[in-house]
Amino acid sequence: MKIMVCLKQVPHQDARLDVRADGTWIQEDNIKFEINSYDTYALEEALRAKDEDDSTEVVAVSVGPDRVTQALRTALGMGADRAVHVNDPEAQGSDALGTAKILAAVAKEENPDIIYAGLMADDDNLAAVPPMLAELAGIASTTGALKVSKANGTVTVDREIEGGSHEVVEVQTPCLIAVQTGLNQVRYASLKGIMKAKKKPLDVKTAADLGLSGQVGAGAAKVKVESISPPPKGDRAEIIEGSAAEAAAGLMAKIKELGLL
Ligand SMILES: Cc1cc2nc3c(=O)[nH]c(=O)nc-3n(C[C@H](O)[C@H](O)[C@H](O)COP(=O)(O)OP(=O)(O)OC[C@H]3O[C@@H](n4cnc5c(N)ncnc54)[C@H](O)[C@@H]3O)c2cc1C
Repeated sequence: MKIMVCLKQVPHQDARLDVRADGTWIQEDNIKFEINSYDTYALEEALRAKDEDDSTEVVAVSVGPDRVTQALRTALGMGADRAVHVNDPEAQGSDALGTAKILAAVAKEENPDIIYAGLMADDDNLAAVPPMLAELAGIASTTGALKVSKANGTVTVDREIEGGSHEVVEVQTPCLIAVQTGLNQVRYASLKGIMKAKKKPLDVKTAADLGLSGQVGAGAAKVKVESISPPPKGDRAEIIEGSAAEAAAGLMAKIKELGLL
């Protein structure tokens, strides 16, 4: 079995984010990045399939600038066999469709049985790339996986739906599964794994290599980011003193005072 894992690199959760001078993106210099939290569960799920059957090949794929190499080396250190990095200035600024086109072109070359992706990106939260990728790759897909089991080409997915209810769906491979956080317990890359990762193949591709010249990137984006702005500074937080009971009573009084009840 071959499993492709889509990994997005996002600003580290503790990173201090400043808006770029042109107001359309964040200042990326001097901030730390990390693998999108949802994608760490996606990668772990693929590696567990490899634990079960060592003939399973796990390919980590990411679209982004030079900094993404670090995320892919981490994935190789955790146990992925190979990595594909689509690193091309022409691909920068791609909207969700552009990103999905690139990943679908890689999927066409790799021909995986399963594609694992995150339900959404921690930074842009679009939750759009995975279903778009599946559509462009012409494969079945489901999202919000909280439990995954596989048997004879059928993947059974327990997914969370409205109100915390669960729905169990079956998809035939090849398919894409977009995973929810909490799907599993994510492992850390071992020192031995990190050492081995240095020798594992990491292929770098361009839009042209994938036959996508002129079809991706900021130039081809159908959705343009007009502006981004930091969250508005909220009113001063108020500390409600006293015992738990007094604080609860104080909070209720405040809520009523604000007309929230
Ligand atoms: C400098 C800059 C400018 C941008 N300008 C625009 C713009 O003008 N318009 C616009 O719409 N978007 C723009 N984007 C891209 C946008 O930020 C999103 O990345 C893109 O729209 C996809 O949405 P998402 O990240 O919310 O992913 P989602 O739709 O939430 O998808 C989440 C899942 O898809 C997979 N995935 C997503 N991105 C990648 C990736 N790069 N590599 C591998 N797997 C991935 C992962 O598994 C991830 O968990 C820009 C990005 C940058 C860095």
